[in-house]
Amino acid sequence: MIIDLRSDTVTKPTKGMLDAMLTAEVGDDVYKEDPSINALEQRLADMFGMDEALFFPTGSMANQAALKLHTNPGEQVICDKYAHIYNYEGGGASFNSGISCKLVDGHRGMFTAEQTKASINPPDFYHSPLTSLIAVENTTNKGGGACWDFEELKKLRQVASNNDLGYHLDGARLWNALIATGQKPKQYGELFDTISVCLSKGLGCPMGSVLIGNSNLMKNAIRVRKILGGGMRQVGFAAAAGLYALNHHLDRLAEDHKKAKEIGEMLLKNDAIEKVEPIETNIVIFELKSHIDDNQFQNNLSEKGIKIIGMGSNKLRMVTHLDYTDIMHSKLIDILKNL
Ligand SMILES: *Cc1c(COP(=O)(O)O)cnc(C)c1O
Repeated sequence: MIIDLRSDTVTKPTKGMLDAMLTAEVGDDVYKEDPSINALEQRLADMFGMDEALFFPTGSMANQAALKLHTNPGEQVICDKYAHIYNYEGGGASFNSGISCKLVDGHRGMFTAEQTKASINPPDFYHSPLTSLIAVENTTNKGGGACWDFEELKKLRQVASNNDLGYHLDGARLWNALIATGQKPKQYGELFDTISVCLSKGLGCPMGSVLIGNSNLMKNAIRVRKILGGGMRQVGFAAAAGLYALNHHLDRLAEDHKKAKEIGEMLLKNDAIEKVEPIETNIVIFELKSHIDDNQFQNNLSEKGIKIIGMGSNKLRMVTHLDYTDIMHSKLIDILKNL
């Protein structure tokens, strides 16, 4: 038995999801004639109380389109030093939009309204890039699945409005934050100008992300998606998976969170481990004692059928997900106990 905890993207469609895909009604989505895609987009726009939603093949493309919608070349986005848009989208911010990132030295991928204000370049000081956007991530990926304090997000909204900045949420794992905190999608819809959500992570779909926003910005989103090469044809098969996941895989995220906590508790008891980051959702990040080699530690687990990934600086990551079963969980706990 292989226990793959590298990411919550390693899941395969369930039987129910495959059935939904096979029976999906489809059409050419470039002409906006795919009924399943249209239904998914409408469902998400309604869910967040926003005007429009647009399906993208990946989360990176949805975020990159958002950056483009909010900025002009030469401008600057404020984000955390851990941000996915900065670290893991191939330098897309500069490649696609010609913008730079002002990195905030936050805590676990999150930062304060005060830090945000201090990061805004004065608009009349033409020597500096013009600040035009604030981008936050919830939950934070590199920050270990941490959930933002909603009050701080509201303060950032004020900073954005007072300074005429856009406000984008990279919500690749927003579902996890909603389940962990009991917050509602509409609260986020009221706060942000654009929100990207992934269907291919905790929800267990084979592909897909959706960008949600109000029509003033979203009216250009379909053109940007076309430019980025993301106009697809009978992609309703993927939308059917998304609709199925929204109906069946949302509430169960609580199970992933519970398992992640239990893994963390077991790791804390291990002598090789220096520190486990607080676990709020489905991501477990832990640091090995300095005399333990992380590659060797990973290989040792890999020989026992457990796959995890390194995060650099002697840190390792495990992510729980839909395909990480109760049986796998008991086996992993046993292995960690005797490691
Ligand atoms: C995974 C992820 C994305 C999007 O990733 P894709 O692989 O392009 O779908 C965006 N933001 C965060 C925080 C992520 O974890």
